[in-house]
Amino acid sequence: MSLNFAERRMRAQTSVIVAATICFLVIALLLTGLMAYVVAEMTRSANEIDDARASRAAQTAIAAFTDRLSTTVRDNAVWDQAYEAIITAEAKDWAYDNWGSTSEDYPLYDGAIVTSPDGSVVSAYRKGKPFEPRGYFGEAFARQIRAAETAGQSPLLNFFETDDGVALVGSQAVQPYRSGAELPKLSVLTFYKLLTPDVIAALSNEHGLDGLRLQAGPPSGLLNTAVRSIDGTAIAYLAWPSTAPGSVVFNKVYPYVASAAAILVVFLGGVLFAGGSEARRLHRLAETARFQANHDSLSGLLNRHGLLDFLERSEPTASSMLSLYLVDLDGFKAVNDAWGHAVGDALIRLVAKALPACHPEIVAAARLGGDEFALVQVGTAPHGEIERAILALLVEPFKIDDRTIEVGASIGAAVRADSLASLELLRRADMALYRAKENGKGQAVQYDLELDRERQRIAELEGDLRRAITSGAIEPAFQPLVSAATGEIVGVEALARWPSPAGNISPEIFIPLAEKSGLIDVLGVHMLRTAIRHTKNWPGLALSVNVSPIQLCNPDFAAQVIAVLKEFDFDPGRLTLEITEGVLMTSPDQARRSIDHLKCFGIKFALDDFGCGYASIGALRQFGFDRMKIDRSLVSGVENAVNGIEVLRATISLATALDIPVTAEGIENARQAAILRETGCDQLQGYLVGKPMSARDISIRLLHEASAA
Ligand code: C2E
Ligand code: CA
Ligand code: CA
Repeated sequence: MSLNFAERRMRAQTSVIVAATICFLVIALLLTGLMAYVVAEMTRSANEIDDARASRAAQTAIAAFTDRLSTTVRDNAVWDQAYEAIITAEAKDWAYDNWGSTSEDYPLYDGAIVTSPDGSVVSAYRKGKPFEPRGYFGEAFARQIRAAETAGQSPLLNFFETDDGVALVGSQAVQPYRSGAELPKLSVLTFYKLLTPDVIAALSNEHGLDGLRLQAGPPSGLLNTAVRSIDGTAIAYLAWPSTAPGSVVFNKVYPYVASAAAILVVFLGGVLFAGGSEARRLHRLAETARFQANHDSLSGLLNRHGLLDFLERSEPTASSMLSLYLVDLDGFKAVNDAWGHAVGDALIRLVAKALPACHPEIVAAARLGGDEFALVQVGTAPHGEIERAILALLVEPFKIDDRTIEVGASIGAAVRADSLASLELLRRADMALYRAKENGKGQAVQYDLELDRERQRIAELEGDLRRAITSGAIEPAFQPLVSAATGEIVGVEALARWPSPAGNISPEIFIPLAEKSGLIDVLGVHMLRTAIRHTKNWPGLALSVNVSPIQLCNPDFAAQVIAVLKEFDFDPGRLTLEITEGVLMTSPDQARRSIDHLKCFGIKFALDDFGCGYASIGALRQFGFDRMKIDRSLVSGVENAVNGIEVLRATISLATALDIPVTAEGIENARQAAILRETGCDQLQGYLVGKPMSARDISIRLLHEASAA
């Protein structure tokens, strides 16, 4: 389907808005995502950094605890006096006095054990009381003692599980401060210190580890570091909660972040809503634009564009054919002129409403302009049926306000053959409609090729006529106008003759053709000039020339006639222009202007074909005709028609009552001549008194008449 400009523009704008909205949303979401990621990453990193610091602090706490015991062990084991005392028999008492008794209440150790080089316990005190270290510390204790036996090494320190909890046990060989020679296996001094809650609390304080505690199993949800025994197994865990500073900061700013997120969501929602409603608005506008581009605003039916579009889209099917009907209202212009455009529009709307429903096979209806409609039929009903349905619809008068309005219609129909283009289908229906209108009101015509051929012939004839006019091939014949009283020739009527190679062509054919094709003005002037040129040779004779309504309506007409008269120095008083009454009805003002202008110069006017039209007497009187020409049909009616004489008599007495002289046309026999003379015609014309003849024949006839007189 073709899109109109407005619709294409709306669609483009809609796409731009949709794209801009999506772009905006994507960018906003991307930025939001990035921000969220940064915040989460900062929170996590801050937590990790602090957790790592706390882990290092825990390690440091254990190291400091171990160092302190290590120093205490070394200060007591590497001691000349102790070395000397421990190998004497008083060793046991010495050990008690210096270490065992101290253990009762001493912050640096909870117990002291001295073992001899052979591994036996010399002295073992726990909190000032003797105890059995092997049972207390287990098998591993012997291993530690053995490892510590040699001089010159640092104190050995290991954690042990005891009945009182986890203890740090430090052992070192008892030795002199300075030993020159290699020493044998030595006695070993061991101190131990329990990791009591007080100790843990002190470590927690010293190292900034809030919530530090010692527990047996691996803690869940807490940071921790394992406390390992001599053989590497975890016997307890130092555990503490993460301070998670990142999370703390995050929790502090969380309300602001949440508010910002909420505002963003509301804002994006607003953008989405605004974008969506704008896109919907443009979509609606585009729909309206498309409707308007394809529809007629007055009737709501399809317009020409919409009809062509519809025809393009309707595929032909094998079973049913598509036909197009063009319907032109007869008498619509009169309705418009008489009642005004508002009533005309109302009539169009009523007809537009009724037409599509006139037959079930009508699938589309359009208004092509003015009072011309189109109907599309898809189906098998014969054309006549549809045409009758259309005409039947218009038979009923339309009621508008309190007026009753009658219109008829002319119909042109065409069938779509296989691959006929829509424009061609429209042209054919149009051609048929044109012919229907030519045939008269209320007619329906179906297109067939003959119409085209005739159009072609007319086009050719028009070309011939143009050439004939310019080459001067069209010549006037002159028909005598005779005095009813004396039988003397008083004037001539110039009648156009076109002798063509194919035979004479009647003015009844070429005059209307000249009118339609715009050649009538040139032909009219040509006829006037040639007729005057000949009539100049017949002094005393009047000249009548026929004038087409179209010529009369030409504003230059009067000036053209005057110019020709001047050119030939012809007396305007000898010239009569014959006009028919039709023009007085259709364009009275223009006709009147030309007539008044020419009458000023003394030119006379005759009303041609009087008695066969409808002009009112009043109208005829206004124009001030100098003569009436009784139509041939009335003259022949004298013999044929019922009441023929009465009608003729009435017509003539009408003219005489208006004081207008009358010419009788088409007198073919003496009886007609007698009746007309008797009823008061002063001039006779017809085959009886003289057929149309050449200028030469007129001259001969005048000579005869002169010699006879
Ligand atoms: P019209 O003006 O009524 O001319 C009279 C017509 O009746 C002429 O036909 C004439 O030949 C014919 N006629 C005259 N007497 C008799 C008769 O006794 N019996 C019969 N049967 N016919 C008779 P024509 O020449 O064929 O002209 C036909 C019409 O063409 C004219 O009718 C006139 O309206 C028009 N016409 C002819 N020449 C011109 C012209 O130069 N200009 C214009 N505008 N119209 C012309
Ligand atoms: Ca005439
Ligand atoms: Ca006539």
